[in-house]
Amino acid sequence: MSLEIEHSCPECASETTFYRTASTLVQLGEKTKWSCTNCEYGFVKIGEIESDTDVPA
Ligand SMILES: [Zn+2]
Repeated sequence: MSLEIEHSCPECASETTFYRTASTLVQLGEKTKWSCTNCEYGFVKIGEIESDTDVPA
């Protein structure tokens, strides 16, 4: 998995670059944290599931 992805940011209201800030393996798969390079917005991804709030592993 790459360290940067293109993803739409609700704060920037456009497609921006997100960088990976953390990665851990959990029961459901790989949990990764992503942060927008243009603002403070971030989201968490577990496998293919995205969430804009952090969830306990
Ligand atoms: Zn943003």
